[in-house]
Amino acid sequence: MTTRTAEHHAALAALAEATRLSADVWASALPPPVRGEERSELNDLLDRLRQWFTAGQPPLVLVGAGHFDVFVCEPAISWSTQVPMLCAGEGFLLSTIDGDAGEAVIQAAHTIAARRRASFRTCAECGALDSPEQMHDKKICQGCAQQNHGVIY
Ligand SMILES: [Zn+2]
Repeated sequence: MTTRTAEHHAALAALAEATRLSADVWASALPPPVRGEERSELNDLLDRLRQWFTAGQPPLVLVGAGHFDVFVCEPAISWSTQVPMLCAGEGFLLSTIDGDAGEAVIQAAHTIAARRRASFRTCAECGALDSPEQMHDKKICQGCAQQNHGVIY
């Protein structure tokens, strides 16, 4: 098993542990790879959502996990400081208290992932598929802006 696969499975297990949903539900809901995120990098949306995970590369879905509910949302980037910070975008807050939230969570995650994918753009210069926060403008990515146009971030 590669390190990346091991990290993905460990993150699914951690999600199952943090919520009332099984690792199988999370595996169906989220595009790989799933990774745990540092809590401190995320905005103080809801105190009870103690653990955060991103899924996909570039990230397609962000999940805030609590014992009674989960927040399935779009990953967003905040530029309020010098360093870009991962924060929670629009999404679905779902109660997991009754134990049968699996389908709702899968639906929500698939909706978010599809919406995110639709927002991706292909860089006109290097041809890479990039998320909106990786783009310099509507046409080219930040890498090409730096390498080909002397832009400094
Ligand atoms: Zn590019």
